[in-house]
Amino acid sequence: MNLRDSLHQIDGKGYGTYRQIRGTHQVGEFQLSIDKVQVDPYAPASLMRVILPSGVVDLPNELVDDAAGRVATSDFLTRRFAQAIRESSRTNTGSAVSIGSPGQQVLQRSSIVIGENSIEARIAVDLPASGRKIRGRQAAKILTEEVPQIVERSLKHQHLDAQALADHVSLYRDQQYVRSVLASNGLVGFVGDGSILPRRSGDTDTPLTEGAVPFSTPETMRVSFQLPSGRTVTGMGIYEGVTVIVGGGYHGKSTLLSALSRGVYPHISGDGREWVITKADAVSIRAEDGRSVTGVDISPFISGLPSGADTTQFSTTNASGSTSQAANLVEALESGSTALLIDEDTSATNFMIRDERMKELIAADREPITPFVDRVRPLLTDCGVSTVLVAGGSGAFFDVADHVIALDEYVAVDVTNRAHDIAGTSPATDNAQTQASVFEQEAAERIPRADGLVAQAKKKPATARGRSVIQFGRERVELSAVAQLIDPAQTAAIAFAMDRLADELDGRLSIAEAITLLLDKVESEGLEVLSPHRGHPGHLALPRRQEIHSAVNRYRHLRLHT
Ligand code: ADP
Ligand code: MG
Repeated sequence: MNLRDSLHQIDGKGYGTYRQIRGTHQVGEFQLSIDKVQVDPYAPASLMRVILPSGVVDLPNELVDDAAGRVATSDFLTRRFAQAIRESSRTNTGSAVSIGSPGQQVLQRSSIVIGENSIEARIAVDLPASGRKIRGRQAAKILTEEVPQIVERSLKHQHLDAQALADHVSLYRDQQYVRSVLASNGLVGFVGDGSILPRRSGDTDTPLTEGAVPFSTPETMRVSFQLPSGRTVTGMGIYEGVTVIVGGGYHGKSTLLSALSRGVYPHISGDGREWVITKADAVSIRAEDGRSVTGVDISPFISGLPSGADTTQFSTTNASGSTSQAANLVEALESGSTALLIDEDTSATNFMIRDERMKELIAADREPITPFVDRVRPLLTDCGVSTVLVAGGSGAFFDVADHVIALDEYVAVDVTNRAHDIAGTSPATDNAQTQASVFEQEAAERIPRADGLVAQAKKKPATARGRSVIQFGRERVELSAVAQLIDPAQTAAIAFAMDRLADELDGRLSIAEAITLLLDKVESEGLEVLSPHRGHPGHLALPRRQEIHSAVNRYRHLRLHT
């Protein structure tokens, strides 16, 4: 029996009877695989996959012949699919169909996957009920009329805006290219001329449209890239080393740094940050008091705590502002980061600087903290780690800065020379006196016990609750301070990744090694390998290794080999 007849037949029956439609059905040109049927009308929507033969979709080969092209094309199709759902919703006053939809960034997602011979759209459908009874005719309309219409409009190349698709892929390839050549150009970041950095409001990710001052590059910092598409892009290069962003309050310092923080991801056309490109491993570092820390060597920053706690393997269930910021920084190094982004607004002052008067009042041996200003050069010289830092309130960083950028009414100005004149020194001169190295070349890797990441009292897979919380057994892993975790679908992927890592850890693998193995698997087999479910994997998007690391680090019952 076909799906339509089956649904008509169970019309009016108890909701649980929907279970009978599980399985694969031919619906017109595609197969509909109904993988998970909701148990009641209020449960999360049922999960299904639309499987179309490649021939029907007919994508131009040059768009999908490499991984980058497939990511960008899938992203385009997903956006188009979501738009077709909205259109359908407008004519039918609402739609029961949904797809995990992207925001301003282009990420590898599980929503639409382009395979060798077929294309799969992973959707969710709220199966209709009247009270607790099945509305079978309504369900048949949704699955055999509405879904095919959405598929027709959004997944067939002949009905797509071919130019828009080609541009989408080309932009993504250009952006990935710039990111890939930053290091060989001695750069950690790039901000294209004309970029719109401010957002419409504090809680949206879309650009400010009225009164936004487009970014303009100081002449001395101008660089340009010849792109694979043939175009050229020009803007401000942020060089390896120490870059300090200064300027009066409300002149756009944090906005620039936030854009760089997001610049680890490619942005869609029209976002304003298309040409803000940051090294892929750059990490935003902030204070995060209250977080849990397990066995992190924060001794380069903090030693001789009044409690006598060992700071080479520092653990706490309730970190202070300064210890949390130190732990965040050292963990970022452990995750392979080579560029740190730090804003005074979210930093612990005593972690960042200590002035002369305070040094006079409080003897050095009574102060456990060596401030970041004294460590930012060794970080660079010992470990090759660059820093971009916002410091509007203190000139203490002038001595250690390679570049100083002032923002004046949102306009960037190169004030490096003036800052060095004021300081009467520059890093070039202070480098002459070589200091003993305080950082190990390689950050010490932490090795969890084989059962070191096993959730307590756990029955169900780990799950994401929105962008910033993972429910892991009975523990909530709080990720709201992890600034570069941007999409709830990434959080969902990290939740599953934590379960996979818990399985993989054997008492020998370090956290970093286990994450590397897992991400290698994702690269060769797709995001689906993270999912505990067969068929529809859930709405997942690829996180960076740094954010997976961040989640593991914040798990309050992480247990290490000692
Ligand atoms: P700061 O960190 O220097 O105090 P912010 O970056 O927080 O300043 O910016 C202050 C305000 O100015 C914010 O509301 C921000 O959206 C806005 N803003 C930032 N950059 C621009 C710009 N280029 N054009 C217009 N408004 C901007
Ligand atoms: Mg600020």
